[in-house]
Amino acid sequence: QDPLTRLPNSLLLEDRISQAQRKADRDSSLFAVLFLDLDGFKTVNDSLGRQFGDLVLIESAQRLAAEVRAQDTLARLGGDQFAVVVEGLEQAEDVAQLCERLADTHERPFDLGRHQLRLSLSMGIAVYPQDGQDPHTLLSRAEAAMDRVKHAGRNGYRFFEATMDSSVHGHLELQNALRQALAEREFLLHYQPKFDALSGQIVGVEALIRWLRPGSGMVSPAQFIPAAERSGLILAIGDWALDEACRQMRAWYDQGHRFKMAVNLSAQQFRHARLIETVRATLARHELPPAQLVLEITETTAMEEAETAMGILRTLAEMGVGLSIDDFGTGYSSLAYLKRLPAGELKIDRAFVGELTPGSEDAAIVQAIIALGHTLGRTIVAEGVETVEQRDFLAVSGCDTLQGFLLGRPTTATALSELLAG
Ligand code: C2E
Ligand code: CA
Ligand code: CA
Ligand code: CA
Repeated sequence: QDPLTRLPNSLLLEDRISQAQRKADRDSSLFAVLFLDLDGFKTVNDSLGRQFGDLVLIESAQRLAAEVRAQDTLARLGGDQFAVVVEGLEQAEDVAQLCERLADTHERPFDLGRHQLRLSLSMGIAVYPQDGQDPHTLLSRAEAAMDRVKHAGRNGYRFFEATMDSSVHGHLELQNALRQALAEREFLLHYQPKFDALSGQIVGVEALIRWLRPGSGMVSPAQFIPAAERSGLILAIGDWALDEACRQMRAWYDQGHRFKMAVNLSAQQFRHARLIETVRATLARHELPPAQLVLEITETTAMEEAETAMGILRTLAEMGVGLSIDDFGTGYSSLAYLKRLPAGELKIDRAFVGELTPGSEDAAIVQAIIALGHTLGRTIVAEGVETVEQRDFLAVSGCDTLQGFLLGRPTTATALSELLAG
């Protein structure tokens, strides 16, 4: 079992920090939030490939876990970032010893079969109560301290200081701007069609959020979804996107269109207790048959806390909502899990489609995913189709649905309506 998926995620971490806060208030102790970032990880991941990257992360998590006491919390923030909550401190300085030990654990080279790697950790520390009174502030400030370590040449730790607040302000500014963007209705959805590989018919559209930020033009979701996730604003933004997509689908439905509307869910939305109720209420509000809606979640999200995820997915499937596993092929879900997963659609990650040439390794992977998916009765979608060669290869290989710039870019509802009208 992958030890990474068993670590608490950022949502759980916030709960733990709130708990630590109550406890520290009770027995007037201190606690520290450590923000950890692996140095050099991206280079490893990019040069050796994701498989090796994942091995490094697992090994690193194990080394960290061995130093963290049972009463403390080690969490995975995502990517190569971890956090530790260290409780029951008498003085802030006491946490420095732990940082030394965590650094030591990473001095031993990482042994990956043919490769031996040297990595280190950059660590930032924020201490409750002096550095912040809530989980967000403590984490942001621990991150700001970590940033300083990075800039000073990596490998080490630092305590948060007030002069570091400018980078915190960068985060807070973006969060405030996002909050305002919701109120001022600066978000909009673009829609990218999905085509049947054989007939060329539009079988679905995917809603992709855009932010028309005054003075900055169109901001891509890659630039603000992570900040929205970290601040919890993703829930309100996600509610808006789901509602807007369903409203638009209702309009197209009334014009006689029966393709499906796909909406992306981030990990936080997916885990949130009220997801099922929100989906149910939104469909009801627009009097939309559940089968018109497809929810896209990434393979990684579907695999984190697999049993919980399975339960949520099953409930959605029972409601009649379609489910699609996005970025498929990057998360290494097991066959056994995949078989039980009630998702009608697998979306092959763009990374595999990008380098599709007949006879290549990626071509073999894509064909294997298609064969496997079909055996399990799933529809296979390829995203990121940019060339005629890719399209033809995918169609000949039996891929069911195609999506990409070659066939149709994400565009406004108005432009897509015109296309649909012929
Ligand atoms: P995704 O779900 O994997 O979406 C596909 C991304 O690939 C989109 O980027 C799309 O514009 C882009 N794309 C489509 N065809 C091609 C192609 O042929 N070539 C290339 N190079 N790219 C192509 P976009 O719109 O920037 O969205 C990025 C990510 O942001 C999405 O990845 C999704 O994870 C997230 N996102 C977008 N909208 C929402 C939303 O409403 N809610 C949430 N939670 N996440 C969203
Ligand atoms: Ca890193
Ligand atoms: Ca998607
Ligand atoms: Ca994708």
